[in-house]
Amino acid sequence: TQKVHIIGGGLAGSEAAWQLARRGFQVRISEMRGTGEGTPAHQTDGLAELVCSNSFRSDDDEKNAVGLLHHEMRACDSLIMGAAKVAAVPAGSALAVDRDVFSAEVEKRLSALDNVEIVRERVDQLPTEGTTIVATGPLTAEALAGSIGAATGADSLAFFDAIAPIVYRDSIDMDICWMASRWDKPSKVGGGTKDYINCPMTKEQYIAFHQGLVDGEKTVFKDWEANTPYFDGCMPIEVMAERGVETLRFGPMKPVGLDNPHWATPEHPNGRWPYAVVQLRQDNKLGTLWNMVGFQTKLKHAEQVRLFRTIPGLENAEFARLGGLHRNTFLNSPVLLDRQLRLKTAPHVRFAGQITGCEGYVESSAVGLMAGLMTAAELTGRTWHAPPATTAMGALLSHITGDAEAESFQPMNVNFGLFPPLHEVSKKQRKEAYTARAKEEIGPWIAGLTPAA
Ligand code: FAD
Repeated sequence: TQKVHIIGGGLAGSEAAWQLARRGFQVRISEMRGTGEGTPAHQTDGLAELVCSNSFRSDDDEKNAVGLLHHEMRACDSLIMGAAKVAAVPAGSALAVDRDVFSAEVEKRLSALDNVEIVRERVDQLPTEGTTIVATGPLTAEALAGSIGAATGADSLAFFDAIAPIVYRDSIDMDICWMASRWDKPSKVGGGTKDYINCPMTKEQYIAFHQGLVDGEKTVFKDWEANTPYFDGCMPIEVMAERGVETLRFGPMKPVGLDNPHWATPEHPNGRWPYAVVQLRQDNKLGTLWNMVGFQTKLKHAEQVRLFRTIPGLENAEFARLGGLHRNTFLNSPVLLDRQLRLKTAPHVRFAGQITGCEGYVESSAVGLMAGLMTAAELTGRTWHAPPATTAMGALLSHITGDAEAESFQPMNVNFGLFPPLHEVSKKQRKEAYTARAKEEIGPWIAGLTPAA
C-alpha cells in the first residue's frame, strides 16, 4: 500500500496517523523533537505533548460544543480521546489528563502498529510529491514555514494571531445598537449599506471605558514572544488606549458618519453621531458570530468579559471567543485549502491541526482525525463526504475551509455559533437541541467511512 508522510508528531499528526494506520495504510511520521531540535513551548520529546494546560476542556456533550466534539471523536475511535481516557485525572466536568501518561500512551499505541514508522527528523521543505499531511502546529520550524510561505504566498501564512473577541449575534441588544455602515457607503460584497452592528457611547461612557482599558490587567508575553511585532491594524486595543485618550476615537472607535437612529430628535430625524462607537462585523457566513472590530487584546479573559459588557448593547454579550495575541503559524485556509484541507495549488499536500486555523488541543486533534479520514478515502478511491455541518466536526471543518470570512480569518475554537442556527428553538433549549441534532446525524456519516482494516 501507498505510504503517507505525516510531518509533525503532535496532536493532529498522531491522530491522523492512527486513523490511517487502523485502515491499513503505511504511515511515516517525521517529528523533529528527539533530534536535539525543539519548539519554544515543548519540553519533552514525546508525541502529542500538551504544551500548556492539561485540560481538554468540558466533557459535557449535552450543552457544550467542545464536549460534543469529544463525543464525535470517540465515535470515530479517536487515538487522542482513547489516550485521554487512560490518562484522565479528576477535573469535575472537564476532561483533564496527566500529560506524561497521556503522551506516553499516544506513543505506545502508535508504536504498537506495524505499519507506523516514527522517525525523528526535521523536514525543511514541503515534499514535491507523495501523499503528505503537514501537521507541524503553531510553532512550525522556520525552514519549513518558509517553504510553506513560498508555496502559499507570504501574505497567506501568519506567524502571530491577533484575535478580537467574537460575540454571539443573539446576545447583542439591538434596542441599543443599530445596523449601519459608515456614511451608508455600499459594501463591496452584496452592496448593503448597513453591514455593521454599532454600539453607541456617550462621552462619559467613553472616558470610563478608556480608563478601564488602561487599568485592566493584561497577560504578559512569554519570553520567546516578547518581540511580537504589532502589525498595522493588529495593535492591541489597550496599547492604543495608552497612547492618549483620543487615540481610539480616531481609530477603531471612530464615530463619524454613524447616525444613531435611537438618538433621533425632531431636529435630527436620522439620529446623531455618538461620542464613540464600537463596531462589530459579521464573522461567518451563517451570521451567528460577530467580531469586535479592532479589539484584539491581551487583557486577561475575565477582565475582557467584565469591561466589554460595559459597552452599551453588550451588557449581556456572550463571547464565542475572547481576544488574544500569540505566536501562531497558521494559513489563510478559507482561501488556500479546498474543502478537503488540500493545498489548492499542490493537492498532494494536506494540512491538519492548528496550522489550518482551528484553535485548541481538541480542535487540532479533530482536524487531524478528519485529515486522516480524507486521506484514507482518497487512497481507496472513495468519494469523501464531509461530516454534516450540523455536527461539531462538520461545523469546524466548514468554517476553516470556506465559511469563515477570509479577510479577517483568525484561529477559531469550536462553538455553537459555527452551527446552522435553530432559531425556532427557545434560547434556553438551544444547546441541547444542537447536540441532539449532531448526535443523530454523526452516526450515519460514520457508517459511510472507509472501514478499519
Ligand atoms: P503540535 O501539537 O504543536 O504538533 C506539531 C508537531 O510538529 C510538534 O511536535 C513539533 O515538534 C513538530 N514540528 C514542527 N515543525 C516541524 C518540522 N519542520 N519537521 C518535523 N516536525 C516538526 N490549546 C489548548 O487547548 N489549551 C492550551 O492550554 C493551549 N496552550 C497553548 C500554549 C502555547 C504556548 C501554544 C503555542 C499553543 C497552545 N494551545 C493550547 C494551542 C494548540 O491547541 C496546541 O498548540 C496544539 O498542540 C496544536 O496541535 P497540533 O497538532 O496542530 O500542533
